[in-house]
Amino acid sequence: MFENHLDNIAIIGCGLAGLTLAIRLAQKGVVSTIYEKENKGNLGGMGIQITPNGSSILSRLGVEEPLREISSKMESVNALDGLTSKRLFSLDLNQFGKGDDLGYFTCHRGKLIRILCDKAMDLRVRFCFGKKITPEGFSPHGVEFSSDEGEEFHASLLIGADGYGSQISETLNMVGEKQKPDFVALRGLVPTEKLSGLKFPNDVNIYMYPAQHLVTYGIDMGKLLNVVAIRPFDHMVDPEMEFATIKDGFHNFQFLESLFANATETRKNLLFMGKVQPQWFAGRVCLCGDALHPMPPFLAQGGNMAIEDGWVLASSLVNNSNLTDALNLFKFKRQQRLERMVRYTNSQAWINHLKSGLMYQLRNTTMTLANRTFPNLIANRYSWIYKEI
Ligand SMILES: Cc1cc2nc3c(=O)[nH]c(=O)nc-3n(C[C@H](O)[C@H](O)[C@H](O)COP(=O)(O)OP(=O)(O)OC[C@H]3O[C@@H](n4cnc5c(N)ncnc54)[C@H](O)[C@@H]3O)c2cc1C
Repeated sequence: MFENHLDNIAIIGCGLAGLTLAIRLAQKGVVSTIYEKENKGNLGGMGIQITPNGSSILSRLGVEEPLREISSKMESVNALDGLTSKRLFSLDLNQFGKGDDLGYFTCHRGKLIRILCDKAMDLRVRFCFGKKITPEGFSPHGVEFSSDEGEEFHASLLIGADGYGSQISETLNMVGEKQKPDFVALRGLVPTEKLSGLKFPNDVNIYMYPAQHLVTYGIDMGKLLNVVAIRPFDHMVDPEMEFATIKDGFHNFQFLESLFANATETRKNLLFMGKVQPQWFAGRVCLCGDALHPMPPFLAQGGNMAIEDGWVLASSLVNNSNLTDALNLFKFKRQQRLERMVRYTNSQAWINHLKSGLMYQLRNTTMTLANRTFPNLIANRYSWIYKEI
């Protein structure tokens, strides 16, 4: 049995939450071990938007320099009526940054993860890749756990940073019947040289269609366009449906068709409305990141919240000699912000998927008017999100 919770911390999951936590702990002199089911080379993904609240933490983790080589700083977020291409609003992102900082940037998630892994390795964080941790025989109080190959491990504290569908979260929070997905997302990476005639400057563009939306932004110094198309799941029949069949359901998307025709990589994701799990920790087990608060990407905050969680959890653990106090402090510092974020994200789901008709027209008119007359109204909706914590 370990005397102190910092003696041998096990972090399950080598995503943004787990890596931020491990690096921050190491900066404070606490060495942890990350257990990851994938091999190091498989930690990929597609494009990701890191907003100023997340990027300021990444700077404090000491990875600003390598990030500058792989990131594209965004100038604005634009909402457009997909049917007419009319601009509904434009949010100037320069107002949320401090000149030369990383600010609001986009990059390839796989490259971001690699930079964080390298930093963690420099700081002597231990890695166990290819170890899928199972909930079998798992008790939150003793913290003995095993891999699906039967290897047994011990820890003074176990952090479930194992992402959406977390098995660690399932040991703490009762899962009811399997939920039907709320949305389906199709993602693609398209070489911009194949898109001659189309210009994609450093903007995030959100094309709003009736009941569907499409997000595009450049990554890899504008060499690739990251495309995410999302629509509700309600008229779908089968979660196993093929990419091409789902694509056919995007009625207004000739544009999407032309983009995906050139994609070098495509992917399908099922999405669920956001929530914060009721039980954050028990005994010597605590959750963070998507494992604690799965949320759809409508405000691009799932990863940013995972980074924030890792940062705050590390300081709560290091600054308290009593584990229960430390975990209560983590919850106290994060709960309000996470619940607000989930509320806003879920309401953005409604805004982005209005069906054609009166409400659709009203949304477009309100956005256009607000953009022209009170641009601060729109900025205020987002400024609390992007504030450095
Ligand atoms: C279409 C789409 C677009 C998105 N865009 C954005 C965006 O622009 N900005 C943003 O901030 N967020 C975005 N997100 C959300 C973001 O990707 C997640 O919120 C974020 O990756 C969560 O980080 P995490 O560390 O909690 O979990 P993850 O990144 O999921 O990492 C969890 C890790 O745990 C590992 N793992 C799982 N189970 C086990 C196990 N049993 N044993 C060992 N290892 C295990 C997994 O392999 C994984 O590496 C998007 C999501 C989607 C679906």
